[in-house]
Amino acid sequence: MKKMWAPWRNVFVYNRKIKGCIFCKAAKSKDDKKHFVVERGNFCFSILNIYPYNNGHIMIAPYAHKSTLLDLTESELRELMSLAKNSMRRTEKLLKPQGYNIGFNIGKVAGAGFAGHVHMHIVPRWLGDTNFMPVITHTKVMSESLDSLYRRLKGVKV
Ligand SMILES: [Zn+2]
Repeated sequence: MKKMWAPWRNVFVYNRKIKGCIFCKAAKSKDDKKHFVVERGNFCFSILNIYPYNNGHIMIAPYAHKSTLLDLTESELRELMSLAKNSMRRTEKLLKPQGYNIGFNIGKVAGAGFAGHVHMHIVPRWLGDTNFMPVITHTKVMSESLDSLYRRLKGVKV
């Protein structure tokens, strides 16, 4: 198998070591804009991924630092799905994706960047959104800045 080189991941790993758990930081912060927190519920919150796989990549996490779905209460699980639905509503109105990848990476071995704090990924997809750029140039083309996307998503009534 060939190795794929992804230099942007270095920034991600580096920041993680310095900053600790991004979900706990965002959960405890009063500055939603700084952390790109889109919505807060009683048990969970949604947040933009600052290293998105695609434009509009949102993550849903519980406030509590729990590493797996098995540790979540029924209330946390219910609200997680409800915030996922709200995130999709926002995305539908603003970005009109043709599909989604939605899921969890549980554990480092499964590719979880922050394995200690379970989170659901909601990644909007469009036909042709994966092209030669990530493969050949290690560059993912984002059609919109995080600041602009955040402002627009926050403005959607769900
Ligand atoms: Zn955490």
